[in-house]
Amino acid sequence: MYKGIAASRGIGIGSICRIIEQDLSFEAKMVSDVAAEKARFQKAIDDFVEETYAMAEDVKKNIGEKESEILLGHAVMISDPSMSGEMFSMIDAGQCAEAALTGVCDMFYGIFSTMDDEMMKQRASDIADVKVSILKKLLDVKDIEISKVPKGTVLVCKDLTPSMTSQIVKENVVGIITEVGGPTSHSAILARALEIPAVLSVPGIVDLVEDKDAAIVDGTAGDVFINPEGDVLAKYVDKREEFIKKREELKKFIGKDTLTADGDKLEIFCNIGTPKDAKKAMECDGEGVGLFRSEFLFMDNTHLPTEEEQFEAYKEALETMQGKTVIIRTLDIGGDKDIPYMDFEKEENPFLGFRAVRYCLANPDMYKVQLRAITRASAFGKAKIMVPLVTTVDEVRAVKKLVAEIKDDLRKEGIPFDEGIEVGCMTETAASAAIADLLAKEADFFSIGTNDLTGYTMAVDRGNAKVAYLYSAFQPAVLRSIRQIIAAAKEAGIPVGMCGEAAADPLMIPLLMSFGLDEYSVNPVLVLTARSIISKWSKAEADALAEKVMAMDNIEDVLAALKAAAKE
Ligand code: PEP
Ligand code: MG
Repeated sequence: MYKGIAASRGIGIGSICRIIEQDLSFEAKMVSDVAAEKARFQKAIDDFVEETYAMAEDVKKNIGEKESEILLGHAVMISDPSMSGEMFSMIDAGQCAEAALTGVCDMFYGIFSTMDDEMMKQRASDIADVKVSILKKLLDVKDIEISKVPKGTVLVCKDLTPSMTSQIVKENVVGIITEVGGPTSHSAILARALEIPAVLSVPGIVDLVEDKDAAIVDGTAGDVFINPEGDVLAKYVDKREEFIKKREELKKFIGKDTLTADGDKLEIFCNIGTPKDAKKAMECDGEGVGLFRSEFLFMDNTHLPTEEEQFEAYKEALETMQGKTVIIRTLDIGGDKDIPYMDFEKEENPFLGFRAVRYCLANPDMYKVQLRAITRASAFGKAKIMVPLVTTVDEVRAVKKLVAEIKDDLRKEGIPFDEGIEVGCMTETAASAAIADLLAKEADFFSIGTNDLTGYTMAVDRGNAKVAYLYSAFQPAVLRSIRQIIAAAKEAGIPVGMCGEAAADPLMIPLLMSFGLDEYSVNPVLVLTARSIISKWSKAEADALAEKVMAMDNIEDVLAALKAAAKE
């Protein structure tokens, strides 16, 4: 068995077709007829752009608009004067088109690929993809016809580029294995959109297999089997059936309310990082956005985003959600989230330091820009403001005071906004759990951030392997905190949601139902799974399980009891 990164869920069983990289070597030479060389290069670019637009159109029809934008990005990239202009200058200086293309692309690749940022790394691989496509045109190397592979094919290649992925015929390709690429790479996004199981980053796989070898691709676990034994094959044939059955079952929850087995209505919201993700939340049938991590607007930037830039981003998310709630968390930086241009001072203990609401309240001018942008955007949908890392009631009061000042200003300026915009509290610290009753009097809503609540309750640094065994939301201490926060919200009559990873955990859901959680905010791809689990539990069943589990004094017993009762 080979291990890789699980990039697209499901089990694929089929016969391997290797996509061997073609020879794109060339001899760099000086050209004397510069005009002719520029015309040759321009033609290669024009052909590439034309083909890419046609491919993007196909992808838009067959896969989706968001996925087609990946390809359109390639066409835009090569048309960008900072790229092609530089290449033409090199040809002006007598270099051949191949050398100019390679020189400039490799330079940009070098810059982006070393950056410690997933988006920048993705940009590097897009540049490499564009380079190869245009080089093939210049060298007149024909593409392998991925669109012609037979039914039951498992594609094996070094890297599956978006241009290759867009040629895949969904009915014929049952699995994808590559040597490079991560879970957020464009090829992974496309594989998921096509619902083809994919395992990426399997070292050396292209040379380890032959064409027509039998292969199993477990895109859920990230496992690959080549020429498996009969019993392994039989096991995975069953697994594949089970996966397909489950996926079909989930489809019946599309467009439905989230109802418990008793018919009580709950809500499944989505966690998003960018306004574009709101589309995904809608596509996945989310009933709202329970956490918009606004820090991505700051992290994917070279400057503090202006009020206008932020306003546009929040407005886009709100408009995309078409009147459904969007809870925008104000800037949560510091700790593990650094922003280079903001010049944070190094701290001994950043997770216990100057971060999130603490930093924002100490920089009110900057914070007010964000609060004003959100408040203005509230005219375009149902926006709510959420304050991260709260540890005192005064923090919530201070934010509400700023929001009140902003509302006054907007009223005077005649700028529209939602007068009833709510200010809620992210309960993710041990302090917020301890004073949940007091916070509930000041906050309009709660959202439990179990990712941090677990760390701060258990006093565990997630990055420290020696204490990782303590980092679990199923620890009795964390479960008690969660129960206490929900109870305080109920007592005060305010809504309570959860936006930490635990909200989507099938084992956790019955407990949360018993505690009385109203809103579950999950990764968009998990909306239907969460809705399905909720549909299987009645309040009485969930209460009986919770009563048993909450009396247990160790995580092993808790997990064993939850697993024994699980309904998947
Ligand atoms: C959390 O802490 O549970 C949470 C959702 O916030 P983040 O993961 O962004 O810190
Ligand atoms: Mg958090």
